[in-house]
Amino acid sequence: MYFTQVSMADTTLVHGSARDRRACERKRRRVAEGSAVVLVPVLRNAAEAALGMDLPGSADGEVAGGGGSTASSVGTSDMVCALGESEEGRHPFVAAALATAADVPPEGVLPWPVGRQLVVVLDMDQTLVGDVTPLADRENFETNIPWESWPAGRARGVPDAVMSACLTAGVMRPGLRELVGVLRELGVLVVVYTHSEGAWARKLLRAVQREVGHFVYRVFARDDCLDGQCGLGWTSQKQLAHVAARLAETPGLEWVSVGSCILVDDRCDVLDLSEARRQVVVPPYRYTPTNVRWDDSIDDEVVATNSGKLMKEVVYRTAVGWGLAPPSLVAAGACDAAWHRRAAAEARTVKARNRLAASDVALFSVAAGLRHVQGDASDASVRVLKAFVDRRQLVPGPAPVYPSLGYSIPE
Ligand SMILES: [Mg+2]
Repeated sequence: MYFTQVSMADTTLVHGSARDRRACERKRRRVAEGSAVVLVPVLRNAAEAALGMDLPGSADGEVAGGGGSTASSVGTSDMVCALGESEEGRHPFVAAALATAADVPPEGVLPWPVGRQLVVVLDMDQTLVGDVTPLADRENFETNIPWESWPAGRARGVPDAVMSACLTAGVMRPGLRELVGVLRELGVLVVVYTHSEGAWARKLLRAVQREVGHFVYRVFARDDCLDGQCGLGWTSQKQLAHVAARLAETPGLEWVSVGSCILVDDRCDVLDLSEARRQVVVPPYRYTPTNVRWDDSIDDEVVATNSGKLMKEVVYRTAVGWGLAPPSLVAAGACDAAWHRRAAAEARTVKARNRLAASDVALFSVAAGLRHVQGDASDASVRVLKAFVDRRQLVPGPAPVYPSLGYSIPE
């Protein structure tokens, strides 16, 4: 017996001709060279293009928390302020933070009135959050293994407190709270479209929304992808026509069509070429939690109260099959040297990526903080700081920034 469910985390699915793939890879590399903190200005440009209009904003906004080849000349804060204060009379970023609630409303509840006929379809993994594979693996083992016995009083699945700690420690993409504030001010419909397994995606998104406020109207998950139940006849992993058709079935959302959707995704090969123009590609955000393991809750009590057959033939065999545990766990005397070498290499990669992500978080925090600096513009320290985080300085991406900080850019 073998636990056959694939990992809940996103997987690679390549389609199209070799030439298409090469073009995608070139585009991806160009995007990946930019700072990870580009969601808001990129989204703003895409929203303008989709709506066929210029959204209000000033012409010389300062730091918007990122750049990239499609960066707008208008700063995030300028755009939000020009759109007016929220009904609470507070800065929209604050309003979004205040909207954070212990209980996130269920799917199908609008987080705010939809005032523009635009659907922002957001990818989840490496777009809204970093690489959550360790969390997803633990969730998978605890909730999908047919355990014969589980300790009384111990919930199965990653606890909310662990989810929250990971999200705030770096798993959440920097700027996500601000992005939610902007989406709210724009009054657009927001859905998430992910290749992750549905139950996991909904759990993770509930945790995210407990941190940044309610913003997801509906979740489309693996069952809505090519290799899910809806995949027959599809030529791509995701299909905006599917999302639009499902949404348009809802009373009040009959206006939704492919033409009113834009997809924000870190991968440029997920849509069929016929829909590719509706996509905004953003650099992948790759922070990976390092303090979560697949067997965090599988302690001596769990091992002792489940049969050796289940542990060896399902649990351990799955862990070894996924590369999470050394081969000797199921095959006595097996050589673990290659596994340890691979694990050490992966740990080094994760460490480098997390340092890169930490730089993005720090840069974004400085940029966000400077938006609220009311000090004398002639103050040299303020000028230097603003120059450092000026969007134009970030346009070339981390290339000139990270090496100077002693960081390498992994790939
Ligand atoms: Mg993704």
